Amino acid sequence: MGPRRVVVVPHTHWDREWYDPFQTFRIRLVRLIDGLLDLMEQDSSFTHFLLDGQLAVVDDYLEIRPENRSRLEALTAAGRIAVGPWYVLMDEFLVSGETIVRNLQKGIGRGNTLGGVMDVGYLPDMFGHIAQMPQILAQAGFEHAVVWRGVPSTVDGTAFVWHAPDGSRVRAEYLVAGYGNGAALPEDAKALGRRVSTLTEEFASFLAADDPLLVMNGTDHQPPQPWLGRVVAEFNEIQDEFELSISSLPAYLEGAPWTTLPEWHGELRSGARSNLLMGVASNRVDVKQAAARAERWIERMAEPLSALFLPSGAWPAHFLDVAWTHMIRNSAHDSVCACSVDDVVDTVLHRYAESRHIGQALSDEAVAAVGRSMAEPGPVVVNPSAHDRGGLVEVVVPAVGEPGPDVQVLSERAGLPGSITLDGATVRSMLGLIQGARLDVDTYITDVSLAEDPTGLDITLVIGTEPRDGVPVEEIKRELYSRLSARPETEVRLSLQQPPFRRLLARQVEVPGFGWARFAPAPLLHPAAAHQGPDSITVGNGLVSVTIDTGDGTFALNGVPGFGRLVDSGDFGDTYNYSPPTIDTVVDAPDSVTVDIGDQGPVRATVTITSVYEWPDRVDEATRSRTGSHQVTVKTTLEVRADEEVVRVRTQFVNPSRDHRVRVHLPLPRPDSISRAECAFTIVERGLVAEGRVEEFPTPTFPSRRFVSSGGLTVVHEGLLEYELIDIEGGPDDGSIARATTLALTVLRSTGMLSRMGMTTRPMTAGPMTPLEGSQMIGPVEVSYAIAVSETDPYRLADEVLDPLVATPSFGGGVRADRGSELTVRGAEVSAVRRQAGRLEVRVFNPRPESTTVEIPGWSGWLIDLAGRPVAPFEGRFELAGHGIATARLDGD
Ligand SMILES: [Zn+2]
Repeated sequence: MGPRRVVVVPHTHWDREWYDPFQTFRIRLVRLIDGLLDLMEQDSSFTHFLLDGQLAVVDDYLEIRPENRSRLEALTAAGRIAVGPWYVLMDEFLVSGETIVRNLQKGIGRGNTLGGVMDVGYLPDMFGHIAQMPQILAQAGFEHAVVWRGVPSTVDGTAFVWHAPDGSRVRAEYLVAGYGNGAALPEDAKALGRRVSTLTEEFASFLAADDPLLVMNGTDHQPPQPWLGRVVAEFNEIQDEFELSISSLPAYLEGAPWTTLPEWHGELRSGARSNLLMGVASNRVDVKQAAARAERWIERMAEPLSALFLPSGAWPAHFLDVAWTHMIRNSAHDSVCACSVDDVVDTVLHRYAESRHIGQALSDEAVAAVGRSMAEPGPVVVNPSAHDRGGLVEVVVPAVGEPGPDVQVLSERAGLPGSITLDGATVRSMLGLIQGARLDVDTYITDVSLAEDPTGLDITLVIGTEPRDGVPVEEIKRELYSRLSARPETEVRLSLQQPPFRRLLARQVEVPGFGWARFAPAPLLHPAAAHQGPDSITVGNGLVSVTIDTGDGTFALNGVPGFGRLVDSGDFGDTYNYSPPTIDTVVDAPDSVTVDIGDQGPVRATVTITSVYEWPDRVDEATRSRTGSHQVTVKTTLEVRADEEVVRVRTQFVNPSRDHRVRVHLPLPRPDSISRAECAFTIVERGLVAEGRVEEFPTPTFPSRRFVSSGGLTVVHEGLLEYELIDIEGGPDDGSIARATTLALTVLRSTGMLSRMGMTTRPMTAGPMTPLEGSQMIGPVEVSYAIAVSETDPYRLADEVLDPLVATPSFGGGVRADRGSELTVRGAEVSAVRRQAGRLEVRVFNPRPESTTVEIPGWSGWLIDLAGRPVAPFEGRFELAGHGIATARLDGD
């Protein structure tokens, strides 16, 4: 047998922002790449360097050193510096599937300008891996992944075959000891020999006798070691047990065997050999909510509405690119995970807010375009999702006759005419406040005229509830200013003509998916109502029935009691992991409860439960027990809508306490041993336990994207990513299957440390032991979620709860019919609708195990892969495998 092959891959792992802010780390990055370029140009023995698999570091560098572009390009084109394929090294569980795909596409796009990306799905530090990652990589043309965290104990070699739910697979190289097993190699050849021998012994149980050993020569923010080429050559000279080479991951993986490898299906969330850090799903709930909102506004609103309701030439590509770049940067594992200093979290929140603002403004524009294009006047309702559906809308309509039995009047405004006489100065200041034709949230100037006679000026304003194009408001204002300048003392008679109108709540009749329909209130088959009885308060609609327990503030849902119990307990963990204090105090009952009825129906009925609790102040370091006390008032509003089988819940409080976790307990209608949670492009099933080790307790909290179901309960949420099945009955001890009876949804987790040592759930640190204030989350907290206990399609429910129908006024005069759809997609869930190079592009996925026929009636085009390459043509329909993802580029516009 010859010498063992040892492949050294020099690299750095670049957390763009973490325990220091981005700009602080960037200065170090610029120094590192400056040195790297000099080193690689001067030392041909330093053959390769891996720039961490993410293109963002290249852009970050070139922004400061544009003059070095050609030097960097020369080294990437020569294959000596490997870049990409990602734009950033994201977290895979806390962001949407679309964010992961756009990240990869942006990385590949940027990398192609530098001679191409590294042909390996490099995933060195993510806190576990999603089930669909092999399919995402395969669809972008990759055969290899490189992973570290999350790999279960059943994988006993340095590689395995990793299967996605659809059957796609990649070969996964497993970095058993992480991406830094060869960090800081010594300058001396003999010392290097001792290091290589030790590494080989460490990995002995993972390596066959003739397996090569992969040595990752780098770690967090580590610069290249200039002596590497020399010391490797010297070591090869003095011994023949090992043959060392400096190489790249693609070269190392070329020809790597697939046979005889262990197999793994689905997500990787084990803490068997490295920390999974599952507590990042629940720290800084504000960041997770901001992420969910920004993704919703861009993916579910701005993109589909702009793609479908604006002319193809008006596609707002650059605005969306700004929004996506922010969201992709934020998806970095230390960014959205919020295991970072407060300055970093502030930046992350700012980027998410800007993305959301872009999404909201673009959505408003597209919806307004629908209003302007309607043939007939009156409100129009737009459906931003693929599912045909009705739903609650708020509209403003003229108050003609009685409002009818199927609507709820929110406000009424009396009609005018009215006439007032004003002096010139008052008119001037008033006019300055009118910008364009919009007067307030409900009213627009629909006509304006100006007349003059010797006694004064007459202005007539006609006010309506629909905007009208071409009202000469600004022209009349200018004219008025000039006449007032000529006759400063004249009087101005202002005449207002405004019909009476009212703001209504109604259940809109069904609107086609990706379509529109004129506002029409549906007859209410199950009107909502709130009742105050002699000993209880109820809210319901005949489909769902909620009875409030005025003793403890919980509620019964369809007869199952105990929903909404808020449980506060200590948390002496850090941003990475929950850890209960040695002596915990649990507060799960309020001192007092009051219940108030809000909306009485018939369209929407609400009750607000106000509960007052005593929560401890903090965990005392010395005694490791909770100490102090605060009174906190928690307001929870329950909302039931006509004809909907879901209860919407909004909980608000001002958090006064440190070092604690607050969860809401939701009983399962029937005990269950499995949860089903939305994850990127699929639903994953999980049991009641997780795999861990002494260094990280396997806390069985799991992330869900927008919804999770168990035991007949479905919860849809916005940014409340962490859940746990608790209150377990049965188990091996009594010979039965263990089943949970409650789902706990984390509302808040407060900690004062980025990382900590000596925790009961994780004894060693996971990052710097930096005190933080922001992660205590002192201040206002508002969370919302919805619960259903009927058999329900969770994707439909998520659309209904998170992506409501949008109503907009219309003056008519356009060409659009009363009702229609711009795009019909059946047979699969729609993940994205956007334009690429003018063409509509639709990404769908099949959440079910059986294959499906995806129908896009009236359209033909090409199925393309995630790298944009054509796969197969289609006409109106195509087959999609169980759990498959497909992207269709449609012909025409
Ligand atoms: Zn990292």
